[in-house]
Amino acid sequence: MDSSDLVMLRFGELGTKGKNLKDFINRLGQNVRVYLKPFKKLKIDVRRDHIYIYLNSTPFDDIKPIIEKIPGILSFSHCIAYQDKNIDSIAEKAVEVCSHTTKKTFKVVTKRIDKLFYMHSSEVNRYIADKVLTSCPNIKVDVHSPELELHLSIREDCIYFYYDSYPGIGGYPNGIAGKALMLLSGGIDSPVASFLMMKRGVKLEMIHFAAPPYTSEQVLVKIKDIMRKLLAFQGEIKLYIVPFTDIQKKIYEVAGTSYAITIMRRMMLRLAERTARSHNCLVLSNGESIGQVASQTLKSIRAIEAGCNLPIIRPLATYDKLDIIALAKKIDTYDISIRPYEDCCTIFAVKDPTTAPHFDKVEEIEKKFDFSKLLDEAYQNIRVEKISLQDEADEEF
Ligand code: ATP
Ligand code: MG
Repeated sequence: MDSSDLVMLRFGELGTKGKNLKDFINRLGQNVRVYLKPFKKLKIDVRRDHIYIYLNSTPFDDIKPIIEKIPGILSFSHCIAYQDKNIDSIAEKAVEVCSHTTKKTFKVVTKRIDKLFYMHSSEVNRYIADKVLTSCPNIKVDVHSPELELHLSIREDCIYFYYDSYPGIGGYPNGIAGKALMLLSGGIDSPVASFLMMKRGVKLEMIHFAAPPYTSEQVLVKIKDIMRKLLAFQGEIKLYIVPFTDIQKKIYEVAGTSYAITIMRRMMLRLAERTARSHNCLVLSNGESIGQVASQTLKSIRAIEAGCNLPIIRPLATYDKLDIIALAKKIDTYDISIRPYEDCCTIFAVKDPTTAPHFDKVEEIEKKFDFSKLLDEAYQNIRVEKISLQDEADEEF
């Protein structure tokens, strides 16, 4: 039998058309190549309608878990391509599939792209269905809601046959929407917010505020372990580590406990904005969720954000904690996030943070001490690190 194995990737958000669609496909193609680089035998063919991955004896199950996580893929199927376009070979395969299935109903769906093919699609459907019905007494045709669909796509060069379809994560290819800077803490929320942004096509760079020696090096290990998990959705991630200790100490000196968190968040945003602007990140993003803690009431959000001139996207603004946890488990960051290492916010936690900060009071506190020198110092001492799929692969060998 003259056939080969391939994987067909489907994409496309409704409304993605014209040049946008072309950019979408090209970007997705590039990303797919990056993720599948370690599999040397694969041949990847990026076309207008689908992306095809020729397996060349690479097991489908080896690449399936990777494809499942690539942003921009709606669904995918493991196909057999019949170069000789022999309908009887396909009928034979259809019979084999149906005699092994526990499903009770099926339908054949044929798409005839090669208009010169000698049978019409309805004839092909009937031909294959008849063969199945003759050989497999336990399965019946149901054209309206079949449990099993046998698909044939008749093309100029070959016929594709597939009968399974796996969901991808959807969204847009990472990078297509531009670049943003994510405030990444070691908690549960910001990794989930990162995932949602990456899935929406946004390339992320990360910024983390560290307060050594109050926070240990273990926090950074945790942050990098989280980033490693996020590499499944974005193949390379840059991290800016900001030395925040002196600023934080000063805040607690001048702000008093109830406003300390408000002022601290404002300082974080100032440094984040500066970093974003100098690295072409269009917006900021974080893991805030309305009402979750004192600094995330609408009044707090307003007072904190007032000091920042870049938009801040909060993918989790309306999420319940249980839903965030479920997503954290799905992307496998939960177990890392709950490791008991202190982050700068937990170390400096206060008992009476205000949930309704006043602008006047914020201004008054910030007038008491000029933070600009400390902010400059912190900014100049930012450390940059990068992790990528490539490094991870190199480490394995
Ligand atoms: P948790 O699951 O504990 O809520 P969290 O990461 O959401 O974790 P919060 O204290 O709720 O922590 O902080 C709200 C947001 O502020 C975070 O999601 C994150 O985007 C940002 N943030 C907090 N602390 C830091 C930090 N040390 N460095 C960078 N960003 C931070
Ligand atoms: Mg939170």
